[in-house]
Amino acid sequence: MNIIKSERMDMLFLELKNKKVKIIDQLWELTQNYLNNNLNDMLECKDELKLLEELENTEEYISIIDELNSVNENLNRVYISFLEVKCNSNLKKDMIIALKEKFQDEIKTSDIVRAVGCSKSYARQFQLIDGKVEQKEKRRTLSSKIKGKILKRDGNSCVVCGEIKNLEIHHIMAIMGSSIKELDDHHNLVTLCKECHYLAHNGNYYKNLAYSDVEGFWKWTKNTEKTKIWLILKDIQGIGSKITENIYERFKNLESLENASIRSLSKVDQVNVSLAKKIRYKLEMESK
Ligand SMILES: [Zn+2]
Ligand SMILES: [Zn+2]
Repeated sequence: MNIIKSERMDMLFLELKNKKVKIIDQLWELTQNYLNNNLNDMLECKDELKLLEELENTEEYISIIDELNSVNENLNRVYISFLEVKCNSNLKKDMIIALKEKFQDEIKTSDIVRAVGCSKSYARQFQLIDGKVEQKEKRRTLSSKIKGKILKRDGNSCVVCGEIKNLEIHHIMAIMGSSIKELDDHHNLVTLCKECHYLAHNGNYYKNLAYSDVEGFWKWTKNTEKTKIWLILKDIQGIGSKITENIYERFKNLESLENASIRSLSKVDQVNVSLAKKIRYKLEMESK
């Protein structure tokens, strides 16, 4: 592979990035038009899926995908060249940090995995916090005595969904990096299952919580429709708490979400047709 010269790199990156945005817009438009021209309101979701499969086999669609692949290929070249020129280390850790500090949120985990040759879960250990990259540290552990007390108080079940397996103890107000003892006070500790715990942290243990104060936490635990929606959607790649929020804003409860068509799903902010399709599949699987 030819190494791209340092001076060319930034410009090329920008070019490719803009090109990628355009291609994705093109795909989006093509899909919307195809659906609009071929769908009538009586059709079922299953037919909608069939139509999309049909679209994916059209020449026009395939040629746009080819273009997208070639842009991704070139982006990968930019990343690898950047590492060659700017990163003196062969350690995967240093390479990931260099890439993330340079390209910030613009570089996706899958791009890092490809350029560095690491696993997805390893790449995900590195988080961008205020422009700096930090590796997740091991979380501070509570004494088993306190843990036992909290579990007992909460009836050995998750205070949100009642689950009795995979229980974890959550600090209602965050402890990130803090060693303040009061944070281990039992008023600040609560039993959550693994899933609800993830949800309380907005899907990211090192960023914002899903609420802003203790009162907010207890309100949050009662917002069960959003929780239910999240629990179903969270396994889908590309779904985060932000999109869950948007979906929740639009459908308000799980039942109306279950009846949503791909078309109406794809009208939710930040949800494109392929994501809408995945959501539809997941909902259908869940209702079986
Ligand atoms: Zn739970
Ligand atoms: Zn927690």
